[in-house]
Parts: sequence; structure tokens; C-alpha cells
Amino acid sequence: MSTIAAISTPHAEGGIAVIRISGEKAFEIADKIFKSVSGKIPSEMQGYTCAFGHAVRNGEILDEAVLTVFRCPHSYTGENTAEISCHGGIYVSREILRAALDAGAEPAQAGEFTRRAFQNGKMSLTQAEAVMDVISADSARELSFARSLHEGAVYRRITGIIEKIVQVLGSLAAWADYPEDDIPEVEPEILRSSLSTIQHELVETISTGDYGRIIKDGISAVIIGRPNVGKSTLFNLLSGCERSIVTNIAGTTRDALEERVRLGDVTLRLWDTAGLRETDDVIEQIGVNIARERLEEADVVLAVFDGSEGISEEDNDLLRNLSGKKAIGIINKMDRAEGAIPEEVQAYFEKCIPMSAKDGTGLEELRKVLEEMFYSGEVTPEMGILANERQLRCAQAALKAVEEAINAHDSGEFLDAVTVLLDEAAEHLLDLTGERVSEKVVEDVFTRFCVGK
Ligand code: GDP
Repeated sequence: MSTIAAISTPHAEGGIAVIRISGEKAFEIADKIFKSVSGKIPSEMQGYTCAFGHAVRNGEILDEAVLTVFRCPHSYTGENTAEISCHGGIYVSREILRAALDAGAEPAQAGEFTRRAFQNGKMSLTQAEAVMDVISADSARELSFARSLHEGAVYRRITGIIEKIVQVLGSLAAWADYPEDDIPEVEPEILRSSLSTIQHELVETISTGDYGRIIKDGISAVIIGRPNVGKSTLFNLLSGCERSIVTNIAGTTRDALEERVRLGDVTLRLWDTAGLRETDDVIEQIGVNIARERLEEADVVLAVFDGSEGISEEDNDLLRNLSGKKAIGIINKMDRAEGAIPEEVQAYFEKCIPMSAKDGTGLEELRKVLEEMFYSGEVTPEMGILANERQLRCAQAALKAVEEAINAHDSGEFLDAVTVLLDEAAEHLLDLTGERVSEKVVEDVFTRFCVGK
């Protein structure tokens, strides 16, 4: 396998930059491009040791630098690795990288260091995926989730299910292979109950997928309400800037805008839409159609009402559109309202929040309600939460195969059918952890990485 090199720090000016070289010839290359002050030769240095000196190219000093040596298998990639830390200049770090390439290294592809770590058994595929999640985490919750994934929480959860499947497959195989021996026939009730346990565990695992998505991407929320109740004002209050046009002419918000919004440690992916009003205006109708689609997809609906005006027929239409959706009632313009929240609205929602989008009252309560609704469940990152679409799809395919195995068993088919289907389920789960994954999937996973990681 080739020896690869890349600048592992961002391409920007900074305190230091790190050029990482990994592969069989890492130390041979380091000998050529790094000269220590003390006379230490990189290829003779022990693992986990450093030397101070200079990065050089064709005998010319490029910069002062520190070289760190990691010996196979005790490195990030599992290969011999040399890391040169130099001053954090864009030009100087590129020159050192060029020196490494001249000396025989190949430029690393996106994610190639982590890909090698995965291929050398240093981490599972789910752990490798978590590396990118740790890098892109921008809240304490997201980081803790990414760390659990990186520490192998999902891997352990899925491996536990695979072990159960393998146990069942083992007893089925023993019985099928040695029918004359004294191996007891697989008891149908025991088999059925093992299959149900596996099914249950898969269902539970899949149900964590939504939570994983919400932690990573935020809660997708859509703001709806009849014209003029203050949707745009609320959107702007939440996003902290003037993004959509606020006017007092009904029907001026025609498109849907998305904004990633932070409310304390709650992240919202917020959609401001034209409302669900039926209209003859063609352009506005497009907005209304988008609003309906968003309504279907959103994790939560923020349904806005004008607390200063009372409930209209249009508001009632809106309420009818909400059945079955997780929704929060926002009773806006409370700065102008006198009375309490109308009962017919209150009855509709689990939570109703009196607000003034104009002066910001009620915002903290909204944050608390969202926090309780989405983050205070029993799911914790340590239990193993599915972190992305790829993992979710593998788990769903495994569940489908297990359910077919249960159907085959219940309809009295041969145990061979059950075996084949369980085998298939195990394969999908091995895809998930990366133990049997195809080259194509590995390719997909690692192209999302940055070069140098
Ligand atoms: P939309 O059509 O639902 O998007 O409503 P807008 O956000 O455009 O607001 C319509 C009008 O109501 C504007 O004149 C806003 O300034 C006003 N408005 C919005 N929220 C409040 C509020 O909380 N209190 C008061 N007094 N006026 C508000």
C-alpha cells in the first residue's frame, strides 16, 4: 500500500500546522525531509517520541519543526506515521507537504487516513463515521452523541443483536447438519421467542434513528398560521435577523425559507412558510403547497394564532390540518391581548405558549417546551443511537428480513427458510458495522471526509 501525506490542519493561518505522513515508507520519507537538531534520525526513533529540528527540501531549510513518530500498529491509521508540526502558515505547510511528495509520498484522498484506520481494524465503520461527527459537532449534546458513537456505542448495540442471531443460526445449523445425533429439535416456542426478541431489539434500535437525526441536524420545525398572525416576526425573532419580509399586508410571505437556529442548546431547523391558506394567487399557492409538504415532514409544528383577535374560521381550518402532528400552539401578540388563551386552541395542543414575537416574551418557555419534547426522553447516547441514513437503512433491512423469518416460521415453512432469512439479517447488520461492507459503501462514507483526516 502506498505511503500518503496531507496537511491535517485547516488551510488557514494559525499557530501550527501538521503534515501527516502514513504508510510503509513514512520514516524513510521523514529521514529525507526532517533534520533534527540533536542528530536523531527519524527512522531510528521510538514510537511516541518527538524531535526538534527543521523541515528541509533539497537541503534547504523550510521551517523549524517538531517531528512525532508513531510506530505501527500504535498510530491513528495503524501504520507507521510521522507527523511534522511547523509554523501554521499556508505557504510553508504546503512546501513541507510538497517535500514529502517529492520524497515518495502520494497525496492522501479525502478521509484516507481514517479509511486506513478502518481497514487496519483500528475502528469499526460506525466509529469512523463518528470521527466526522466529532469534527462537525457544534453543541455539547452533539459532541456527546458523536463521542458515544466513536467509543463504539452503536457498534456494541448492533454486535449484541448479531450475536443473538448467530446463536439462533447455530442451533438451527446443528439441528439441520446432524439430524441423526442426539441434538434436540429446535423447540418452536423457543425459536419464536428468540426471533421476537431480535425483532424487538431492532425496532428499538431503529426508533433511535429519529433522535440521532434530531441531535445532529436539529429539530425540523415549521411555522404555520393564517396571514398576519406574526409568523415572519416569530421567524425573525428566532433566527435573530431580518430574513423574511415582514409586512402587515396579508399573504406577503410567499416562499419557504430554512434557517438553522439555536435557542440555548436546542437546535431548530426552522421553516417559515406562507401558511396553509387556500388561495387563488398562483405564486402564493406554490408557497402553500410547500407549506403542506413541510407540515408532513416536520418534527414539530409551531402553530401561530393572534391572541389579540380571537379565533377565526381560518384558524379552525388550520387546527384541522394538524391532526396527528406534534404541535405547539403559539398565542402571539400577547402584548396587545387582554384575555387568556382561547379554550378551543388550548384544548388542541399539549402545550400552548403565550408570546409576543415583537418583544420576545415567551421565547424561553418555547425553548423549555422543545427541550422537554425532544431531548428529555429515555434515549441516551451511551445506549447506541443510529447516527445516519446509512446505518438506519441497514437496520431497517435487517428488521425486514427478521420479520420475514418470523412469518416463515409462523406459517410452518421449513426451518431452512428461517435460516436463510436470518443469515440475510445478520449480513445487513454486518454492513452496518462495516465488517462485511462493500467497497462502494466504504467509498461513500469516506468521500464525505476532509483531506488530512
Ligand atoms: P405573518 O403574515 O403571519 O408572517 O405576520 P407578520 O410577521 O408579517 O406580522 C404581521 C403584523 O403583526 C406586523 O405588523 C407585525 O409587526 C405585527 N406583529 C407580529 N408579532 C407581533 C406581536 O407579538 N405583537 C404585536 N403587537 N404585533 C405583532
